[in-house]
Formats: sequence, C-alpha cells, structure tokens
Amino acid sequence: MHKDTKRREALLYHAKPTPGKIQVVPTKKYATQRDLSLAYSPGVAEPCLEIVKDINNVYKYTAKGNLVAVISNGTAVLGLGDIGPEASKPVMEGKGLLFKIFADIDVFDIEVGTKDVEAFIQTVKNIAPTFGGINLEDIKAPESFEIERRLVEELNIPVMHDDQHGTAIISSAALLNALELAGKELGSVKVVVSGAGSAALACANLYVLLGVKVENIFMFDKDGMLTNSREDISDLQKTYAKPCKPQTLKEVIVDADVFLGLSVGNIFTPEMLLSMSNDPIVFAMANPVPEIDYNVAINTREDVIMATGRSDHPNQVNNVLGFPYIFRGALDVRAKKINEEMKMAAVRALAELAKSPVPEQVNIAYGETKLNFGRDYIIPKPFDPRLIGVVAPAVAKAAIDSGVAQIEIVDWEKYELDLLE
Ligand code: NAP
Ligand code: MG
Repeated sequence: MHKDTKRREALLYHAKPTPGKIQVVPTKKYATQRDLSLAYSPGVAEPCLEIVKDINNVYKYTAKGNLVAVISNGTAVLGLGDIGPEASKPVMEGKGLLFKIFADIDVFDIEVGTKDVEAFIQTVKNIAPTFGGINLEDIKAPESFEIERRLVEELNIPVMHDDQHGTAIISSAALLNALELAGKELGSVKVVVSGAGSAALACANLYVLLGVKVENIFMFDKDGMLTNSREDISDLQKTYAKPCKPQTLKEVIVDADVFLGLSVGNIFTPEMLLSMSNDPIVFAMANPVPEIDYNVAINTREDVIMATGRSDHPNQVNNVLGFPYIFRGALDVRAKKINEEMKMAAVRALAELAKSPVPEQVNIAYGETKLNFGRDYIIPKPFDPRLIGVVAPAVAKAAIDSGVAQIEIVDWEKYELDLLE
C-alpha cells in the first residue's frame, strides 16, 4: 500500500468514529433509581466498609483484580524515541486493546509527565491501590531497570516492564525450538548479541537462566564489543564483558551458533552469516528494519533459522504472545509478583504449543495451507486461540509452586475451560 494511504488509514482509524481506541463500560445494571442507589450512595458504603474490615475484600467488590495499568512516561516509544507522555498515549491505548481482546483484562492507560526516576516510582506507588497489576511500557533504559527493580520490590502486585521481558520470553521460546531443530544444546552454544540495551540485556539474562553459559555470550553496543577494559558500561552490561581485547562483530561471529540482533537495521552482512556454524540461528529483531533482511538471509544460507520483529515474515517475535497471558495467569492467582519461574513457565508453554498441530482456523487466519513445526514456524501465531489456555495456566501454576500466589486454583480443568470461553 502507498505510504500516504497507510498514514491516512491509521489516522482515520484513531480519529473516527470516537477519538482513541478504548472506553469504560459499566458491568452492572443502571436502569432504575434502585440500581443507582446500589451503584452509588447509599448502597456503595457497604462494600467500602467490608474493605475497611479486610483489605482483601477489594478484590471481591471492585474491579481491581482484573485491572492492569499500562504506564509510560513516553521516553522510549516504539522506534520513535522520547516523544513525551501525550504522544505515547496511542501506543498505551493500543496495548489496552490487546490486553482486552486476548485476555479479557481491563486496562487504564496512564501517561506520566516526569522523566525523574524517583518521581515516576512514587507516582506508580501512589496509584497502585487501584490496580491488580502494572505493565511498565516504553520507558528509556537505563532508568527502566531501576524503575522496574524498585517497583517489583516495593509493591505486592505483579509489575513487569514488557519491553524487556516480553521480548526475552518470546525470543527464548523461539530459541528453545530453533536449537531443537538445529540439534544443539543450550549449554554449549555460542551467542553473539548486537545491542546492549533494555531488550538485549533482558534476553541475554533469560537465556542464561535457561542454560546458556555467560562466557558464551558476546555482546556489542554502538561502540563495539563489551570488554573488561571498557569504562563506559553499566554494571548490568559488565556481566557480559569479556577479559579479552576488543574484537569486531565480523571476528566474533565466526562459528557462532546464534546471532541476536536488538540494535539497528542492516549491520549484519551475508559474509558474517556465512561464517557462522551449521544451522545458524538468526533473530534479527531491530524494528522496523532488521539487522539483516529476511530474504537476504534465507538466500544466503539454506540452513538458517530466522526470526524477526516483523509480521510480513515467518517467526515474528511478537510480545502479544506473552503479556496478555502472563498477566492473566498472575492475576488469577493474585500473584505478588511476576518472578523468573513464571517467565520460564511462559517460555516453555509457548515453545511446546508451537510443536503441537495447528488448528485449521489459525491456518486460515494467516492464509497458510499448513503451518507445521519447522524452520518457518518456531513460535505460535498471535491469533492462535489455544494461547490463553496453555500460557495462563502455566504461569499461574508456576506462581503457586514458587510461593508468590495468594490464592489457589483447585479445579485446573475448569479454570482452563473458563479461560477458553
Ligand atoms: P535500547 O535500549 O535503546 O538499546 C539499543 C542498543 O543498540 C544500545 O545498546 C545501542 O548501543 C545499540 N546499538 C545502536 N547502534 C548499534 C550498532 N550499530 N551496533 C551495535 N549496537 C548498536 O533499545 P531496545 O528497547 O533494547 O530496542 C533495540 C531494538 O530492538 C529496536 O530496534 C527495537 O525496535 C527492537 N526490539 C524489537 C522487539 C521485537 O521484535 N519484539 C522487541 C524489543 C525491541 P549504545 O548503548 O552504545 O547506544
Ligand atoms: Mg513497548
């Protein structure tokens, strides 16, 4: 489609018939005077008093338990950068729409007018009583690390910065399956990462939890390889710094098993791809232009296993495969946090789902004759209706097993059926 046509289509979608993408809808009757006296004064005092008696009653009598805040200060929005809180609002409303359609979770999008870390943290803490969970969104690194760390520690509702962990979870699922196809083991693969920002660090950290060895992960930022002699790198980045002299990407990529791109477009050459080991795994996820073009990569090597962040190629690493169901599972057991066990459970559930036969409606939705586990299908598709029924229960179980859940699910079969309704 012509660029200008696309632009107009997007603007019209947002402007008409009602500006924006979400609204608030009452869930109780409001037709009569009696209804109103229950919805508001005087009837509303009764649930207030019950909550005063026991604060957990807030989950029984209000929408808190199914309400997530999507919170941003607009400092790292999509590929657009620091565009400010108002300009980030379409993105946050969009995330609200996705939470609702994929997991029936309600969202208030909150755009906060401060770049100050402490002020931002205090704002979120002060409004947290409203919500069952907090999805931090499009906040610039390194501030995002401190903001998330503090809020996870200081709040007792689930908090997740999706730009970090969403990408890490989905790409980890893709990695497990790609390694299976390549016949390689997590413990012995050499991984080269282009980018040392929010997404790259979160991915590398989760890969290590899954079993990749820290010493086998080589990381690059704009200024080259992370080495011990670099004084300009953060403590989080130092984990991946190497004791050797700095080498170029072209040198380090030789015989590597995995290339992970979370940096900028077109920095990975066919020559580099040719120098990788057999069945090279290339996740080129810079958006909108990947580190290497999909067609260039598959025409360079037949044995490449490729994923990108784009929907026009196979294997899109799309966060929507994760956040709706991770929060669904966390909310349903009233988890106090989203911990590593819950993230790993989501990874394994997503990886497993890609290996089971694809329902016909998914093939139809994507205009595919037959999606089958293999190089062109290592992660499930966003419109796969089975996602909620496998990922949310896996996350909920992991929350219970790791001791962060505050309520139990007794009848798992019923829970899964209810999710699919
Ligand atoms: P970020 O925090 O700004 O990090 C970007 C990193 O890339 C920085 O470490 C930067 O280095 C590095 N970089 C820039 N130019 C480079 C170059 N020529 N060679 C090597 N490294 C270079 O951004 P982010 O949120 O992590 O996102 C990074 C990219 O991944 C974006 O394109 C984003 O759209 C994409 N992404 C995709 C997905 C997905 O597909 N699902 C998810 C998340 C992010 P300096 O620190 O030296 O500047
Ligand atoms: Mg985002």
